[in-house]
Amino acid sequence: DPRISNISSAIRVIPDFPKPGIIFQDITTLLLDTKAFRDTIDLFVERYRGKDISVVAGIEARGFIFGPPIALAIGAKFVPMRKPNKLPGEVLSEEYSLEYGKDTMEMHVDAVKAGERALIIDDLVATGGTLSAAIRLLERVGVHVVECACVIELPELKVCVSNLRPTCYLLVINS
Ligand code: 5GP
Repeated sequence: DPRISNISSAIRVIPDFPKPGIIFQDITTLLLDTKAFRDTIDLFVERYRGKDISVVAGIEARGFIFGPPIALAIGAKFVPMRKPNKLPGEVLSEEYSLEYGKDTMEMHVDAVKAGERALIIDDLVATGGTLSAAIRLLERVGVHVVECACVIELPELKVCVSNLRPTCYLLVINS
């Protein structure tokens, strides 16, 4: 698809952020490019429209940028998957491992119902640990996760991504 290379070039790559040795994929420049941003949303909408998906779950923070326009376009609700102690209602929590240390993800229990079909959205997949926590949260309440979708894959971690079940759909492979 010719739209993909434009999306890829709109992502700014910043070495040594947030610490030395990390090459950061900065999606804020993609948001400044109205065509590339629209094409990103359209590619996801074309894939998921008509698939009977009633939940788009977005992962804090950048899944909150891409998730809502996709949810509106396919006629699904948007459910935020948040950092701990941010959601005011009753929550379910999942701990997951980061490169250094652990983090926790939370979801409102009354946001979804057993039997619903969900799509999980984030900007980038590295080890897949974050997406796996979101999958576990939704599956614990009987939601069927149809697929995960991210804008960017980091290729050196492809092995982890190919092990993800359900599968993860990716637009751009950046290094
Ligand atoms: P994983 O759990 O797959 O190892 O890491 C994915 C999470 O880390 C995502 O939520 C993503 O937003 C964040 N992340 C890690 N590295 C980068 C990066 O270079 N750019 C951006 N935009 N997000 C990153």
